[in-house]
Amino acid sequence: MNNKNDNCAANPTCKKYSIAITSFVMGEDIGMPKEELFEHLKHCKTCQKDLVDWRDTHKVMQMEAEAKTPAFKQNIADMARQIKHEIAPPMPDAISIVKIGNAAGTLWHCLGENGPLPLTALPEVCKLDPPTTKDALVWLLSEKKLDLDEKKRPNIVSLTPEEQNLYFEETGKFGQIEG
Ligand SMILES: [Zn+2]
Repeated sequence: MNNKNDNCAANPTCKKYSIAITSFVMGEDIGMPKEELFEHLKHCKTCQKDLVDWRDTHKVMQMEAEAKTPAFKQNIADMARQIKHEIAPPMPDAISIVKIGNAAGTLWHCLGENGPLPLTALPEVCKLDPPTTKDALVWLLSEKKLDLDEKKRPNIVSLTPEEQNLYFEETGKFGQIEG
């Protein structure tokens, strides 16, 4: 098969999308339908990388700004309180909060990349031990980031459609799972 991506760096259409990508990351008007940009991203590795790079840059800038706000400190406090009550009695220490948070991130990315998975397959596919998988699941479910199909045996877990889109937008890994 012919690879259309080879000439992308030299492709003048990419210039147009590169501007749209920057605007998209900054949350500004991208000057074209979002679908058009996403359609291009599906086929263009260069622009996918561009998106991820911009995301990273923007995230660091945002985090630096956010970490200084009272709202951010309040969020952390709320999260800790929520975990204490709902997730893991006895009260987890700071290290297990970080561990569960990291595991939740791993699970989120794993589901984003693989699409819906049987509950029982999660530890193996996502490379988490079963107790950690459970903690991460509880966390993500409480954050309403997951759908759980309990009619199936074993139960099927997936990101909510919103989170799945977020995964595509955040990673630039478009088109690996076709709807
Ligand atoms: Zn491109």
